[in-house]
Amino acid sequence: MSFRSRSRLRSPWILHFDTGSCNGCDLEVWALLTPRYDIERFGMLNKANPKHADILLITGPVTKKCEGRLRALYEQTPEPKLVIACGNCASTGAPFQDAYHHCFGVNNVIPVDVFVPGCACRPEALIDAVVLAIDKWRVIVTEDVEKNQGPEPDHEVRP
Ligand code: SF4
Repeated sequence: MSFRSRSRLRSPWILHFDTGSCNGCDLEVWALLTPRYDIERFGMLNKANPKHADILLITGPVTKKCEGRLRALYEQTPEPKLVIACGNCASTGAPFQDAYHHCFGVNNVIPVDVFVPGCACRPEALIDAVVLAIDKWRVIVTEDVEKNQGPEPDHEVRP
């Protein structure tokens, strides 16, 4: 595995996007940035730009207004990318299952790799979810390397 892939696995950059939540799950996501949980000590960085992100952390049921934005964010995130649905609303649509203005769970719009249950989901569960996502990511990266190019170069040689 290349230096670049190893670095990405050890320091995933995360984009948090709220697709219409009550803010309960968002508060738990923000708690990850506070000194109590401080996910930066694990190398996980919060990023605002999808082009810099490795993992999308999505909260809330997906409203029809947010559907297009969520798709656009997913398309702008470079491969290999992973998606974590945070909380019951993001996982299933939860109390909004019959609502006319929702697409329900995130997986009805983009593929989801890890579902985190809970209303709201706990910060510890979110850290576990990122660790699970990284495990899945490691498998994807290893398979890609074996299938496509053989071993990736350990470093880029500039002329
Ligand atoms: S799962 Fe609960 S806390 Fe999270 S967005 Fe839905 S209603 Fe709010």
